[in-house]
Formats: sequence, C-alpha cells, structure tokens
Amino acid sequence: MTENRNETAARWIAHFDMDSFFAAVEQRDNEDYRGRPVIVGGLSARGVVSTASYEARRYGVHSAMPMTTARRRCPGGIFLPRDFARYSAASRQIFALMEQFSPRIEPLSIDEGFLDLTGMEGLMTSLADYGQRIKDAVHDATGLVVSVGIAPNKFLAKLASDLEKPDGLTILRPGDISRVVWPLPVSRLWGVGQKTAERLLALRLHTIGDVAAADLKTLAARLGPRLANHLHELANGIDDRPVETVYEAKSIGREITFERDIRCREEAEAQLLYLAGQVGWRLRRAGTRARTIQLKIRLQDFSTYTRRKTLPEDTCYDEEIYETARELFRAFPLPPGTGIRLLGISGSGFDGPGALSLFRDTRKKDRLYTAIDGLKKRFGEDIVRHGAGPEPS
Ligand SMILES: [Mg+2]
Repeated sequence: MTENRNETAARWIAHFDMDSFFAAVEQRDNEDYRGRPVIVGGLSARGVVSTASYEARRYGVHSAMPMTTARRRCPGGIFLPRDFARYSAASRQIFALMEQFSPRIEPLSIDEGFLDLTGMEGLMTSLADYGQRIKDAVHDATGLVVSVGIAPNKFLAKLASDLEKPDGLTILRPGDISRVVWPLPVSRLWGVGQKTAERLLALRLHTIGDVAAADLKTLAARLGPRLANHLHELANGIDDRPVETVYEAKSIGREITFERDIRCREEAEAQLLYLAGQVGWRLRRAGTRARTIQLKIRLQDFSTYTRRKTLPEDTCYDEEIYETARELFRAFPLPPGTGIRLLGISGSGFDGPGALSLFRDTRKKDRLYTAIDGLKKRFGEDIVRHGAGPEPS
C-alpha cells in the first residue's frame, strides 16, 4: 500500500524553486510573451539580467549576465524591467500554499525555500507523490511551474531540485549519492563560488566525488579547516543544518474535495473524523497546539462557509478536534438534499512549541499520542486511522 515504509532516512527535506520565476510571471500575464525569449532585468546600459525564460536561454542568455551581452546574443528578445509588485504577490501566494505541505518552512529567496517533511512520511503515499502534489498545487493556483527536490538534507534537496529543471521532480536517497552527486563538478557544492572552485581545481579536485575522497588535511591546508570540513561533509552527503522557520504557519489544516458530493450527515462526520486525525497529527509534529478550530464546508454550488470555535484550552488531540468540528458541523444549517463538495478542518491560534496549560495535566494523553504517532511513522498512517476518507487526488 504505502511506499513510505522503505523511505528510511533520519530527515526528509524538500526544496522548491520556481522555474525562471520573473520571466514566467511575465509570460503568464502576457499572452504575447509565451513561447518567446523573455529577458527580465535592469534595462539601463549597466543593467544585468535577473531572469531569462527558457526560450532566451537557448540563445546563451542567463541571469547575472550584462544586459548589453544579452541584447547582442538575443536581438529578437523581449526585454522587460522588473515588476516586483507582481512577483511578490505570486511569491506570497506560493509560500501560503506551502503551508499545506509542511508546518516548517524556510524561505531562501522570493521564489525558493525548504520544507521540512521529517516525520510526515505517514501522511504520504510516497515522497514522489507528495512532491508531485506540491508541484500540482503551485501550478493549479498560480499557473506557474516549480521544480522540487526531496532529500535527507538541505544541500541534497537544493541540489536535487536543480537536477531536472525545468518542471523537475527529483528524489535523492542516501544510496543515490555516489551515482548521482559524485560525478557533478565542484561548483555544484552549495557555497562554492568561482574562487573556491579555482582553489579546488588547483588541487586537481574536479568533481564532488573528488572532494568526498580528498584527504581532509590537504583540503584544510588550502581552504582553512572550517571550509574544508564543511565541503568535505557536503561532498559526502552530510549536512545537519536544520530547516529554520522564519515565519510560522498561521494555521495547520487539511481539506478534502470529494470525487462525488456527500449527501449524508453520517458520511460527512466520518470524513471529519479522518480530517481531525490528520490535523491533530500535523499539530503534534509541529510541536504546537491550536486554540481555534475552524470548519470549512463547500456545497455543490461552490458556496463556501467557515465556522470556528475558540476552545477554553488549546489542543493537539484528534478527538477534541473532531468533537469541535462535529459540533460546528451539526450547528450548520445544511439544506436537505444538498451535496457537500468539500470539507476542511484547520487549527490556528498557536501557543508555540512546548506551551503547556498550567491547569491541565496532559502527560498521559501526550504519552498515548506519542505512541500512536510512533506507529503512524513506522507503518503509515492507515494503521491507526479513525474514520473514513480517501486521500484527495
Ligand atoms: Mg528559481
């Protein structure tokens, strides 16, 4: 059933990177630009290229190139100034979408970032399926294309997202490092610029594999002990840097669009039980609790309603989330015979990691859920799934 039983690594991290982001936004918003070489950047005499569309790259145009060179190489290109207002709007939309996929997000730039997927394997059919869902969500919502890499650490994830660009999806597993990573040039090591690359080449280290096999003392003599150690570790696929969440997800939630509208209250409540289990788990994985539970209902005519309740105590427990959602659902005046198209539950109002109520002894419950989550992680989520609920497609 689930492939995730075989996905053994201490951590799983996704890196997403939009494909030729600025140029892609311009092509999305202007039909005339599609399929043509679009070059975005500073248009003054000393300007440089920010982004070139893939059509422009065929002419040898790339980012950071002087604009004058770009104009010479691609005289028929469409040259545009940067419109940061539109790029930031798209960026905000993309980062908001990512909150569906991980409670821990580290933005790296306007169009790329890391998602920590560690411990979420049980929520997935497989890593590849999860990566595809991230790609589909971005494309459906923004019309833009993203490349995704998933690997046991940040360096490998960032490398992976670049391997099959554009529209890439690459999973790098620990066993792939020697075959996939080692043949790459040293310049692909994260943090190796032109200067360091030249020093490595002077040591006759051409590939990442050469650096991985290099004598650490020789490396240190040339690069200094810190950089030598760091690059030697990266080359060997070792990178312990955590995903550093700069901003916390405002809510943690889950929703399902049904293949066929639900017309029966009992079935709807079974779906809520399933959703509550997913939301509870996500909250616990994020080390947080929600004070407010929100129910979302979309009816067959696409009218959408939300109902929320703030609890006296914050929670991360499936049954409390379920009871609250069910109460909200039962109070919702559903016209008889109306089909329900979508149901969702989310929690918000976080107290942050480790915030425990003073008046409530949660230790027993926490132990129980630690055990449940351990099982979910080991055997996939279905083993302890309450309620019905197919995975949404
Ligand atoms: Mg990019």
